[in-house]
Amino acid sequence: MKTIGILGGMSHESTAHYYRLINEGVRTRLGGLHSARIALISVDFATIEPLQAGDEWDAAGALLAADARRIEAAGADFLLLATNTMHRCADIIAAAIDIPLLHLADATAEAVEAAGVRRVALLGTRYTMEQPFYRERLERRGLQVDVPSSGDRGELNRIIFEELCQGTTRADSRATLQRMIDHAGGAGAEAVIAGCTEITMLVDAADSPLPLFDTTAIHAHAAVARALEDAAV
Ligand code: GLU
Repeated sequence: MKTIGILGGMSHESTAHYYRLINEGVRTRLGGLHSARIALISVDFATIEPLQAGDEWDAAGALLAADARRIEAAGADFLLLATNTMHRCADIIAAAIDIPLLHLADATAEAVEAAGVRRVALLGTRYTMEQPFYRERLERRGLQVDVPSSGDRGELNRIIFEELCQGTTRADSRATLQRMIDHAGGAGAEAVIAGCTEITMLVDAADSPLPLFDTTAIHAHAAVARALEDAAV
């Protein structure tokens, strides 16, 4: 079994989901007492968020690259960056390590393609919805990617940072998100990408008006498949 590197804490709410999903995935595949080999560094998100807001992506990337090197030194065979948004710095991080970075947008695009979906609504932080680093990676795979209106992007970003990343789930925010998904369906999207690793704390596939791609689960499942691909325990 390969050792999965996780660079998390962005936020720690979703890192906990990664940890559980990966261990459950290994147990499902191997049974018994089997669990995942994981090398994890969880950052203090309060040191990263101001760099996002201040458009200091290179500085954020340098901090994360240093931790990625520590994860590699701890024995990880490949790395998950456990946040969609910080894939804004994926190139900096990947260049700093000799192990592969399992890119979240690529894993997500593969899942969307496998489902036969061509047009998706992308929900996430305003950085993920508004900057090209994530959307264009999906579009290069042939997907048509819609994002909410400017007002809805602002409100979703607020919900992510002021509520979900701080462990709060509110019924009115759930209804807001469901309305955004419903609107995306009315505009032509076949499915929605929950392109923020905390979104399913609020709306998951069971209560989404459209088919929902959960990037946390997709990334975790891809990691389990990679860790077990040579099937040697
Ligand atoms: N975890 C979130 C994401 O998947 C948002 C937190 C962050 O900005 O990293 O984008």
